[in-house]
Amino acid sequence: MLRNLLRLVAILIALAVVRAVVGMILNFFRGLSKKSGDRESPTASAGAGVPLSAGLLVKDPVCGTFVSAGTSTKTTMKGETYHFCSPACRDKFKGGAKGEPRA
Ligand SMILES: [Zn+2]
Repeated sequence: MLRNLLRLVAILIALAVVRAVVGMILNFFRGLSKKSGDRESPTASAGAGVPLSAGLLVKDPVCGTFVSAGTSTKTTMKGETYHFCSPACRDKFKGGAKGEPRA
């Protein structure tokens, strides 16, 4: 009984360690790719003044994808800012809101 509990705790700790290590490795490679090539994310290198909300995830209302608020495609409508994964989704959203299809 107690042994099973200990095993469970050990597994949980192991998982936490693995997650931490994976996170560190990912951060390491992210740093490397940022230094070596800006090809992948031209907006990230261009925007030196990326706001604090850059890491904030917001939902694309069109396809439901979560995107980073700092790097997403944005549009403002009626005072509200919407974030999209791509210009295609933004256009779809704008088109849908503007010209409501006749039923
Ligand atoms: Zn989308």
